[in-house]
Amino acid sequence: MFENSYSSLPQILFRPVSLSPVATPKLVVANDALAEEMGLGKLWLHSPGALQALSGNSPLAEVAPLAMAYAGHQFGNWVPSLGDGRAMLIGEVPGPDGVRRDLHLKGAGPTPYSRNGDGRATLGAMLREYVVSEAMAALGIPTTRSLAVATTGENIMRERLLPAAVLTRVARSHVRVGTFQYLAARGEDEALRALADYEIARNFPGAQGGPERYLWFLSQVIARQASLIAKWMNVGFIHGVMNTDNMSVCGETIDYGPCAFMDVFHPQKVFSSIDQYGRYAWDKQPVIALWNLTRLAEALLPLFDENRERAITLAQEELKNFMPAFEEAFENGLLLKLGIINRREGDAQFIAQTLQHMIDVNADFTLFFSSLVEHLERGDTATSGEWHGLWQARLAEEGTDPQTRLQIMRAANPVYIPRNHRIEQAIAAAHQGNLDPFHQLVAVISKPYGKAPENAPYAEPPTIDEEVRQTFCGT
Ligand code: AMP
Ligand code: MG
Repeated sequence: MFENSYSSLPQILFRPVSLSPVATPKLVVANDALAEEMGLGKLWLHSPGALQALSGNSPLAEVAPLAMAYAGHQFGNWVPSLGDGRAMLIGEVPGPDGVRRDLHLKGAGPTPYSRNGDGRATLGAMLREYVVSEAMAALGIPTTRSLAVATTGENIMRERLLPAAVLTRVARSHVRVGTFQYLAARGEDEALRALADYEIARNFPGAQGGPERYLWFLSQVIARQASLIAKWMNVGFIHGVMNTDNMSVCGETIDYGPCAFMDVFHPQKVFSSIDQYGRYAWDKQPVIALWNLTRLAEALLPLFDENRERAITLAQEELKNFMPAFEEAFENGLLLKLGIINRREGDAQFIAQTLQHMIDVNADFTLFFSSLVEHLERGDTATSGEWHGLWQARLAEEGTDPQTRLQIMRAANPVYIPRNHRIEQAIAAAHQGNLDPFHQLVAVISKPYGKAPENAPYAEPPTIDEEVRQTFCGT
């Protein structure tokens, strides 16, 4: 049932990990639906054997755990050696749907890449990753998933003593831009080729043989990132720490540290306490993604052509496609949120006017769009204010039948997102030993579309007292 294909790659890419068992592991969150989807089954997930494996106490059926090596640019600064310092790959599961998924433990203790860290994580940070990643999945946004959270029974020292936990992260791959950078910086061209071939075979169906496949691979990574960033921005999501080691090449959102969904819209909004200059603000995300992809292209240069100049030209041709692809996906996504299906000239300007209007009225990102849906549901033809008039006029040009339009808008505009204040409330209760608010929140965000009267409070923005202004890297 469990394999580990990554261990057949060149040894420079990983190090074996010796496990650091904990005394009293306890499964506190279990994603039964995901366990079924992966072919592991709910019974397995709740078994004593799974608890031992998912808390880092014993290996998964003879698969030796390993820590993956990677490098990365953190806030633009080159760090030649990072690696899984508080995470480890414990095995891969070939699913009944043909998808091979990694099982990664986060917070299971030190690895050869831990440097001075303890390799542990707080329960709060792991719950945060769980709920936000599951919300992204429910929104249809490519993401790593969360299979389980197990507490260790131990406390760890952070700003104060806090309960520790291990998250089981599930991904189609943990190969990052930084994994390629790690090899490129060491001149390991053969390992670079092996890693590219591995990732292509695993996640890029349709690749041809021959040397052109690497340029094609780059083009696919670019296309997936353009689509991903557009999807984030269409729901008001700010990743918060888009370092090259936190960008997965298969196009899944990875590393839920200081991420957040915006309440009040502002394009330059930043939550991360360590992002002093707004490098990873909402509206900077496409520029940063392109910067990261350029680092990936640089790392892959030896695979494109023996002649470096020619390799650079080839890579540049591909990188040129990112911005237009992002803009098209972002704008089309935003138009659908507004009920506009047939794009026409002038719509880019209308989008700009819409975003400016949202700034002017201090709009809550999610409520702004869901209230447009409500407006149409009421069959209200009254307009209020200039922007509203423009919108109504634009809709009138469409000629879409009202029911179809409503369906499209409902599918494009979530009602329930994991709001920061709800996450903080759930974490505070969990640190006191009460996981009920957390389970309730997960249930709500798992069905983001369409109103459920009993969940109405979860659609509300925070009061001034509840507002969360900063998020922290989950350490
Ligand atoms: P992140 O901010 O989660 O992307 O992590 C950046 C780097 O710091 C990665 O190499 C992590 O493995 C490492 N790291 C973060 N927290 C810890 C910790 N508690 N112990 C050891 N390494 C850590
Ligand atoms: Mg990371």
